[in-house]
Amino acid sequence: MDADCVIVGGGPAGMVAGLLFARAGVKTLVLEKHGDFLRDFRGDTVHPSTLAIFHELGLLDALLRRPHDEVTQLGGLVAGQAIRFAEFSGLKAPAPFIAMMPQWEFLDFVADAARRYPAFTLRQNAEAAALIEEGGRVAGVRLAGGEEVLARLTIACDGRHSVLRDRSGLPSKTIGAPMDVFWFRLPKPRGPNRSMGVFDTGLILALIDRGDYWQCAFVFAKGSADRVRGDGLEAFRARIARAAPDLAEATGALASWDEVKLLTVTVDRLERWHRPGLLVIGDAAHAMSPIGGVGINLAVQDAVAAANALAGPMARGEDPDPLLHKVEDRRLWPTRMTQGMQKAAQDRIIAPLLGSSTPLARPPLVARLFDRFAFLRRIPARVIGMGFRPEHVRSPEA
Ligand SMILES: Cc1cc2nc3c(=O)[nH]c(=O)nc-3n(C[C@H](O)[C@H](O)[C@H](O)COP(=O)(O)OP(=O)(O)OC[C@H]3O[C@@H](n4cnc5c(N)ncnc54)[C@H](O)[C@@H]3O)c2cc1C
Repeated sequence: MDADCVIVGGGPAGMVAGLLFARAGVKTLVLEKHGDFLRDFRGDTVHPSTLAIFHELGLLDALLRRPHDEVTQLGGLVAGQAIRFAEFSGLKAPAPFIAMMPQWEFLDFVADAARRYPAFTLRQNAEAAALIEEGGRVAGVRLAGGEEVLARLTIACDGRHSVLRDRSGLPSKTIGAPMDVFWFRLPKPRGPNRSMGVFDTGLILALIDRGDYWQCAFVFAKGSADRVRGDGLEAFRARIARAAPDLAEATGALASWDEVKLLTVTVDRLERWHRPGLLVIGDAAHAMSPIGGVGINLAVQDAVAAANALAGPMARGEDPDPLLHKVEDRRLWPTRMTQGMQKAAQDRIIAPLLGSSTPLARPPLVARLFDRFAFLRRIPARVIGMGFRPEHVRSPEA
């Protein structure tokens, strides 16, 4: 046996699970196909629910020493008017704000914290290609080079394009999304974090403030990427400038379509998250809509729930198989609830807005009410910031 627990994928789900299983004394091996954490196509939002987990682990102060901005309210431009949507400062949480932290900083921090435990190993440049099955149960994974890694439990945390989920035969359900995203950078002067959303006729733009540049997500109707590209780069720049006039000058920095990456939005979930010897969590179990930017935090919550149910018993040498259902029992409901709300927002707000050609004269009534009444802004803050059924660390420290 190479490990008690092999975790495939060093994203938020895999790294936090790795930390917690190793902390409990379970011999844990995380396999990550890339050589570093420096990938750009990931979110930057560490929500109050995740910060609360690090508080419980005694690691919050150290985490917040990593470069980040603290965002206490989310808002945006709707029909050119500034609107506040969510107010986090009233949340009952140890850190009632979103920490805007590049995901590579977050993952690097978790890796450092996990390395303090002798039971933890992270292997990078190690890509899992298949499940190894023995006697009807999963006994580990085969790497792309053919090497076999055997373990009592395999946890698939290999993200939304999970190979292990595909190989597992577990049943899944597609929820779908009416949009795709172009992802690119625009320069900006340094200053207070101004991350925001821009909502206008036929266009949604999410702007993540990364200090000296905006990481921009240009949201458009699914399947129309070629049409947007076909209109030309000049028209693309003009659409951005029309919706966000402050960015007009910065759009000049966009020199070619090579700088604009297409991200296809998928929303789905497994209806069953486990088989003997195998557990699937994070995006591999449920690719989330970008609405609310909750993917990282759900992945972390899954990891905490998995460690709560399994790490202690595994450290005592118990068989994990009869316990695997506990993770799904705990996390499928919050996943369904979150995706249900995302789908409602997709169908009722995003799709009509992206499909419309009638200019928005002013923000809709509901947006104006949110802006006016602070108590309304606490509802999305709670749903986005803490999520449904927040987890607490119950797994032991060896
Ligand atoms: C452009 C973009 C912006 C986003 N913005 C936000 C945001 O602002 N806030 C938010 O909360 N969420 C955001 N998300 C979603 C968020 O990134 C995911 O929900 C979250 O990262 C899921 O964590 P995970 O650990 O389950 O999977 P991932 O983060 O996808 O990690 C999977 C890991 O597994 C590795 N891997 C994959 N296959 C293999 C293999 N076969 N063998 C070994 N390793 C493998 C990958 O390299 C990766 O490191 C965004 C996503 C995208 C694409």
